[in-house]
Formats: sequence, structure tokens, C-alpha cells
Amino acid sequence: LVGKAFRPEGTVLNVRGVQIGGGTLCVMAGPCTVESAEMLLETARFVKKMGAHILRGGAFKPSTSPYSFHGLGEEGLKILQEASLETGLPIITEVMDTRDVELVGRYTDIFQIGTRNMTNFSLLREVGNTRKPVMLKRGWASTIEEWLQAAEYIASQGNYEIILCERGIRTFETYTRNTFDLNAIPAIKELSHLPIFADPSHATGKRSLVPAITLGAVAAGVDGLIIEVHPNPEKAVKDGPQSLSFEQFGQLMQAVRPVAEAVGKRL
Ligand code: PEP
Ligand code: MN
Repeated sequence: LVGKAFRPEGTVLNVRGVQIGGGTLCVMAGPCTVESAEMLLETARFVKKMGAHILRGGAFKPSTSPYSFHGLGEEGLKILQEASLETGLPIITEVMDTRDVELVGRYTDIFQIGTRNMTNFSLLREVGNTRKPVMLKRGWASTIEEWLQAAEYIASQGNYEIILCERGIRTFETYTRNTFDLNAIPAIKELSHLPIFADPSHATGKRSLVPAITLGAVAAGVDGLIIEVHPNPEKAVKDGPQSLSFEQFGQLMQAVRPVAEAVGKRL
């Protein structure tokens, strides 16, 4: 169902008036984690002003340690909804547990499946049973084929509203948090009709590298980007080192425009 032959013209999604796929470059931006209503609203207003289309923010956060911060939960979802109502930006947020799909679905416009859950097949089936768009991030140690099979789990339940997101894979390199697989972008275009996004924030783990990887991904033909932005990255609860400041995000949006235009994408 997710193979190119099933829908050679490509999948186009409409998320509350925001087009994904079909010649647009969709920008999702926001903090790693919703920390408070104030910081989220401030970020939402700014990224909207800079031309972002969708607001990102985690309410349920995966974490390597069971003792670190795991997000604000439903309170975070409520804050996301408020920011969405005020700015008009649709939202994307992660769901990690089959038991939370209904709750998260009451608030979000797009479900995010994180890298650690790419092979959580019961979760994939559960979001596949909804009729809400799902962004499926690539597993950090998954091949392109395994990633497409994971997407097939969602589609097999009847939900074809799927966005793929390359967020870097683990290699022997340690200077960067992950290694961004640029190959995956044209490869997915060859193999599937689904829109493909890039996450330069988690792919690099370093804000200094985010602009170059963003531009490379746009040049390679992505349908969209998901970028971490924080009002004060030094003070961020999560992923501060890879989060862009407002000023850096504004500059990046300016730099993206001519590259998007050069590959025929509307921003
Ligand atoms: C995130 O987007 O904040 C996140 C946790 O991403 P990933 O699942 O790609 O690590
Ligand atoms: Mn993050």
C-alpha cells in the first residue's frame, strides 16, 4: 500500500488547510518539549511570523533514563491546543503508548511516532485505526525497507495519511548525535508515494550543523522539515544544544526560500 506503484502521482495531505506533499515545502517548528504555556505561545507566534505552517511540541517525551523529564502529559496537550487556537497553526505531537492514542488524538492534528517506536507494531496498528495523519520517524537502526514495512502496518489498518521523516541513524560517528541519511530522501521518492520530511535537529544534535543539513535536505527534494526552536536554547529542558534560537530560525527560513524555489517547491 505504501509502494510507489499504488499511487504513482504521490500522496497529498491536507491538514486543516496546510498542504503536505504535491509540490509544497511544509515547515513544522517548535520546541522539543512543551515547558509552559508562555514559552509555547511565544514560540508559536514567532515561528508563524517566520512562515512555519505547523507547530511541534512534545507532551509525552521518550527518554533514555526513566528518571528524567517525560513531558507535561495532558497539560502539555492543552497548552498545544491553546497555542493552535490562538495562532491557527495545526499541531503535531508524539504518542508513545497505545493507551494514549485516544487522548492524544483529541488534541493533535498529526500523530508523531518517534524513532524508538518505529517497530512498536501495536502502536502502529492503533494509529492506523484512526483517520488522523501520522508522521512516522525512521528507527535509528532501521533500514529503508524496514521503515516502509512499518508504514505498511499503519496503512494496512486503512489509514493512508502517512508522512515519513528521516531523523538520522546511528553509525560509528560520535561527533554528531546521529548521521543524517541524505540517500533516504531520493530513495523514498523512488520507492514510495508518501511525503518525506527531514529532521535536521535530531539528525545532527548540534545547532551549528542544522542550517547546512536543512538546505541539503531541501535540495534533495524533501516535502517538509521539522525543526526544534526554543526562546532560550541554553535553558531548554530537552535538546537545547540542537535547538535554534528565534534569530537563527528566522535566518534559516530566509536561506531556505531560494533553495526551495530552485527545486520547484512552494514555501
Ligand atoms: C522529537 O521529535 O522530539 C523526538 C524525540 O524525535 P526522535 O523520535 O526522532 O528522537
Ligand atoms: Mn527533541
